[in-house]
Amino acid sequence: MSIQNEAVPHLQAEQIFAGLSDYQHALSSHMDWLRHCYSAILNWGEGHPHAADRGTCAFDVWFTGAKDSLLGGFVGFGRLGELHDEVHDTAERIIGRATTGQTITTSDYEAMMALVLAFGTAAQSLERDVWRTLATVDPLTGLGNRQTMMSQLIGERDRAIRLDQPCCVGLADIDHFKKINDTFGHAAGDRVLRAVADCLRGAVRPYDILYRYGGEEFLVCLPAATLEDGTQVLERMRAAVDQLKLQDAAGRAIAVTATFGLAMLNADHSVEESLERADNALYDGKRAGRNRVVLYRADGPTD
Ligand code: GH3
Ligand code: MG
Ligand code: MG
Repeated sequence: MSIQNEAVPHLQAEQIFAGLSDYQHALSSHMDWLRHCYSAILNWGEGHPHAADRGTCAFDVWFTGAKDSLLGGFVGFGRLGELHDEVHDTAERIIGRATTGQTITTSDYEAMMALVLAFGTAAQSLERDVWRTLATVDPLTGLGNRQTMMSQLIGERDRAIRLDQPCCVGLADIDHFKKINDTFGHAAGDRVLRAVADCLRGAVRPYDILYRYGGEEFLVCLPAATLEDGTQVLERMRAAVDQLKLQDAAGRAIAVTATFGLAMLNADHSVEESLERADNALYDGKRAGRNRVVLYRADGPTD
């Protein structure tokens, strides 16, 4: 894989940021349309002959384009589109009455106001959801960030205890990453981090949860995994990173490997203690030569 042209998929946070800006433009176009529409209603349909023309509202174009984007996956997106349709249909009906000399009743006005308010509330709530999600995501890799990680790990530990199931945590640290930055530059280093994050995403089980733990460190929570299962998953992740074919803009190969440490997440230890154990195993792996998976054992490392 060449990493010179940002060819790495899943840049979720960046996509969401870009999507939010388009969303705000679409909302502002709808507000412009609404202003014209109110004028037309107050002028009894005169002065703004095209006010009822939905084509002057760019929200539809945005909505159709955003359906397949990350924003389209948010709960509340579909309802916003429905409300938008209802606002336009109601406005068209009311302006139609005005232009044909019929009376606009209080209930027409109230129906329109209720829809406009509901649309505004739905728009705010979608935006709030998006910001809340952004606060949980590491912008560089699109993985969960450290802030959300701790509370989710506590939840996974509680669940494992309640269901009497095993659960593991794995830590991964890219080997000699400082040298990658020094040799290829910090921007290339960032792209390596994204490529590694994507590669790890592809190697875990669907229900494993990946986080960016720190600079060039990743954490994976492995529900329903014994140490043996966990070792298998981490070994798959290690091999996938080892096989990554990356190069810089000049075509120079960038070799990447990572070292992994594994520990149980269970009732015997707090989450912090389990993370410390995984970290100890990882550093045993570094000392033993890197590019390996080591599982924590109270009596010393095993790989
Ligand atoms: P080791 O094999 O022992 O882990 O060596 P290392 O060089 O990977 O470890 P070290 O802790 O010495 O260096 C980690 C480097 O990661 C230093 C830091 O500048 C870099 N780093 C941390 N976060 C980022 C980031 O977001 N982008 C880039 N490009 N570099 C980062
Ligand atoms: Mg490190
Ligand atoms: Mg490192």
